[in-house]
Amino acid sequence: MAQHSKILIVGSGPAGYTAAIYAARANLEPTLVAGSQPGGQLMITTEVENFPGFPKGILGPELMDLFRVQAERFGTRFVDGTVTSLDLSRRPFRAIVDGKDELTGDALILSTGATAKWIGIPREKELSGYGVSACATCDGFFFKGKEVAVVGGGDTAMEEATFLTKFATRVTVIHRRDSLRASKIMQEKAKRNPRISFIWNSVVTDIHGGREEGVTGLRLRNTVSGEEADFPCQGLFVAIGHEPNSQLLRGLLDLDEKGYVKTVPGSTRTSVPGVFACGDLQDPTYRQAITAAGSGCMAAIDAERALEH
Ligand code: NAP
Repeated sequence: MAQHSKILIVGSGPAGYTAAIYAARANLEPTLVAGSQPGGQLMITTEVENFPGFPKGILGPELMDLFRVQAERFGTRFVDGTVTSLDLSRRPFRAIVDGKDELTGDALILSTGATAKWIGIPREKELSGYGVSACATCDGFFFKGKEVAVVGGGDTAMEEATFLTKFATRVTVIHRRDSLRASKIMQEKAKRNPRISFIWNSVVTDIHGGREEGVTGLRLRNTVSGEEADFPCQGLFVAIGHEPNSQLLRGLLDLDEKGYVKTVPGSTRTSVPGVFACGDLQDPTYRQAITAAGSGCMAAIDAERALEH
């Protein structure tokens, strides 16, 4: 028997939880399917210093716990599991969780977020967990007293590099251009840190080492001269951005060329009436916890109005 809700929310980051808080407070008794990483990307972050209301900062997981408690307080039903298929072709909308349990919803809010990208070089996945990582917060501790490299030139790369200096003796940021994309404040913080140095105009083409010995070095190619060189280090952190978790949605509603769900500007409405998208899943630009939360609120209000009509 399918479990039915007026509002079914898929995804549990700041967007999904905020949609749940608003939908629950509107007496719509939402069901929220938490996904494979309940709490989303903030669960693998340390200090969040820019979420309004927390002047001293707050840990990402702690902030997500507070969101969840608040959504629970107003009657959100949580389902632990991952939506493995969706049917948007008829009403109510249908979601299958972990290949077996069926949930239905009169309105659907999608908030599955985004995931860190990998460089795409051959040994990256093989050595993931053996010296290669996409999450300094999760794995930084293992690199105590070691030398590591961070690939990327955005805020994430600066944040990861700065965080890693708590453990590593030396952190080298490898960036494919000669200027950073990161915000000025984060660039300056990284550049001021005596443990951080930069290699410009370079990409990683191979990783040396193996599962036994871990990472022993990187092969770098200069993007200007084409010259190649080896760079010794014991860890590689990939921090080159994210891609939307929209694989499940291909062919079901309109996505842009990068896979972000298209929404009608100024709303969370998707190309399927009754289906709404919020958070990083539909936001290639801002991608902040606060903007995700704001769009989660919009999605709940849009869904509530759609149900009224
Ligand atoms: P991003 O801004 O898209 O930056 C990705 C970086 O990786 C860029 O420097 C890019 O190089 C590089 N890159 C992309 N693909 C690559 C590849 N295949 N090989 C080598 N380098 C590659 O992503 P982000 O740093 O994850 O940040 C995403 C958003 O989150 C931003 O809006 C950022 O402000 C925000 N954010 C904020 C905070 C904070 O405020 N605390 C922390 C983290 C992230 P190019 O520059 O050459 O394109």
